[in-house]
Amino acid sequence: MKGTVLYGPGDVRFEERPEPKILKPTDAIIRLAVSCVCGSDLWPYRGIQPVTEPQAMGHEYCGFVEEVGSAVKTVKPGQFVIGSFCLSDNTCPNCRAGYQSGCQQLEFMTGAQAPYARVPLADGTLIATPEKPSDDLLPSLLTVSDVLGTGWFAADAANVKPGSTVVVVGDGAVGLLGVLSAGQMGAERIIAMSRHPSRQKLAKEFGATDIVTERGDEGVARIKEMTKGIGADSVLECVGGLESMMQAVRSTRPGGSIGYVGVPHNALLDLQQVFFTLVRLHGGPAPVRRYLPALINLVLEGKINPGKVFDLALPLDQVAEGYRAMDERRAIKALLRP
Ligand SMILES: [Zn+2]
Repeated sequence: MKGTVLYGPGDVRFEERPEPKILKPTDAIIRLAVSCVCGSDLWPYRGIQPVTEPQAMGHEYCGFVEEVGSAVKTVKPGQFVIGSFCLSDNTCPNCRAGYQSGCQQLEFMTGAQAPYARVPLADGTLIATPEKPSDDLLPSLLTVSDVLGTGWFAADAANVKPGSTVVVVGDGAVGLLGVLSAGQMGAERIIAMSRHPSRQKLAKEFGATDIVTERGDEGVARIKEMTKGIGADSVLECVGGLESMMQAVRSTRPGGSIGYVGVPHNALLDLQQVFFTLVRLHGGPAPVRRYLPALINLVLEGKINPGKVFDLALPLDQVAEGYRAMDERRAIKALLRP
C-alpha cells in the first residue's frame, strides 16, 4: 500500500508503507472512501511545527470498516463510518462530560491520507451511518470528522444563540464552516472577516450577512461601527495567531464569548489586555465526537452542504499538489480520492 508521509518542510511523499494492522483489540481498520488535507497539516509542512522524523499524514476520514479487533462492539465490517480526529474511549469522566478531546486515553488520528488506516479506540471514536451514503454526500460527511466539527465547536464555545451577532475571524475551511454553524444555531448577524473574493462568496453561501475586509485596528473599528460601538456577542477565532486572537478579543462585547479553535503557534497573549475586556474564552481541540451524531444527520438529511469547502479534488497519489495548492492559498481545501 502507498500512503502519505511528511519528511520535512515542503517535502510530502506518496510512498510504499506497511498495510495497517489490528494492534489492539479496540482497533478497527478502515478503507478510506475519501480523505483530505487539513489546514493544520500546513504547520509542519511550512516548518512552523518541527518535523523530527517522517510522519504518516492524514487525520480526517470516513470509509468502510474492513476489520475490527476482538473487543470492538459498536461497528462491524462493511459498515460506513465517520470518526473524529481525536480518538477517545467515550467512557471516561471527561468523555462523559462531553470533552472527548480531553479523553483520559486520548490519541490523535494519523495515516488517513492513504487507502487504508487504523483507527484505535474504535467503539468510542466511530459512528456508523444507517446505510451506505451516496457518493455525492462523501465530501460533506468527511468534513464532520474535523473541519465542520471544529467550526461547530467554535460557535458552541462562543455561545452562539438565536438572535446573536457573530464575528468569524479566519476564512479557512474551519472559519467558513464556523459561519455555517453559527447560522444553524440561529445567529441573526454573521460577520465574516475575509479578504479573498472566493472565500467571501462561500462565506455568504454559508450564511454570512456581512463581510469585513479590514484587519487590526481598522478591522476592530469596523466591527464596532457595525455593532453600535459595543462589539459582537460571539466571536469565533479560527486562525491560531496572536493577531487573530487579539482581533477576536477586541471585537467582542463585554460579557461576550470567544470560541478559539485555531491551534496557537508562538502566540503569547498579554493577559492584562484580555482582563479589562470582560470576555469569556473557551477553546481547544474540538470534542468532535460529541457532535458527530447530530452533524451526520444534518448532512444525511440534506440540511447542510459543508462539502462545498473542497474547491480542489485530486487523486490520492497527487497529494503533494494538494499541500502545495493549500500552502499557496490557491485552494481552500483539497479532497483526496483513493
Ligand atoms: Zn475518554
